[in-house]
Amino acid sequence: MSKITRRGSTPAKTSRAGTAKTPPKSLAANPRQRKSAAAKLGQAPAAKAASKKSAGPASRSAKTSDKAASRATKPWTPAEVREAFTRFRNANPEPKGELEHLNPYTLLVAVVLSAQATDAGVNKATRALFAVADTPEKMVALGEATVRDYIKTIGLYRNKAKNVIALSEKLIAEFNSEVPRTRAEIESLPGAGRKTANVVLNMAFGEHTMAVDTHVFRVGNRTGLAPGKTPLEVELGLERVIPPEFMLHAHHWLILHGRYTCLARSPRCEVCLINDLCRWPEKTV
Ligand code: SF4
Repeated sequence: MSKITRRGSTPAKTSRAGTAKTPPKSLAANPRQRKSAAAKLGQAPAAKAASKKSAGPASRSAKTSDKAASRATKPWTPAEVREAFTRFRNANPEPKGELEHLNPYTLLVAVVLSAQATDAGVNKATRALFAVADTPEKMVALGEATVRDYIKTIGLYRNKAKNVIALSEKLIAEFNSEVPRTRAEIESLPGAGRKTANVVLNMAFGEHTMAVDTHVFRVGNRTGLAPGKTPLEVELGLERVIPPEFMLHAHHWLILHGRYTCLARSPRCEVCLINDLCRWPEKTV
């Protein structure tokens, strides 16, 4: 494969997808439609009023209130969840992520490198790296010192370079140079954890997994969709409530929603396509 893809593209696609730099277009950005949908879903006006009453500056204690508040709200009904993901799908049928890669192997490496780093920062380094090493053999041939040099702009690069070489050696020795297809096998690779496995299984192999990063964690808690104290709790909660037909893209819809709309400090509730469904008491609409 020669072209670069980005995390979030439909599996097997290899075009330069993932131009998600612009926020996905907001829902049927028609507030009337949203109100009417909420009415159909049985949202009580009183609850809405109560939410408004408690609204305050979005930045105020946002982090702590995200978790505590959402746990106290009533769970979403199946109809509401379906409505939310139908809106995400209508607004962005093929969500694209932003982590560039060429094949399952480079996806795996990119995800390992992305821990505590931004996708943009990782892409900057991996464009040159993947141009010379897009297979485990080529990466091992480069050697740890050279890999380190390519990725030195990424946080924790020394340890990450070590892991990239070690996981490449393991792929060659134990998996015929292929990225394995089971969670346990992926998690056995140096530097790869549950989130890495979820991303790779979802993007490379089309599995209905839910990788929970900081954005998904925030959205799951803040909206009340899947409250949880840990990423695993949120992951399992989301898997429980999201209908299978939405699971292939749910991870990216939620990431993009958190990255561009439900921002950590100043959520853009006024353009949020699920603002009538969101349970966060501090939402600003
Ligand atoms: S209304 Fe939307 S943007 Fe605002 S807190 Fe809820 S999900 Fe986030």
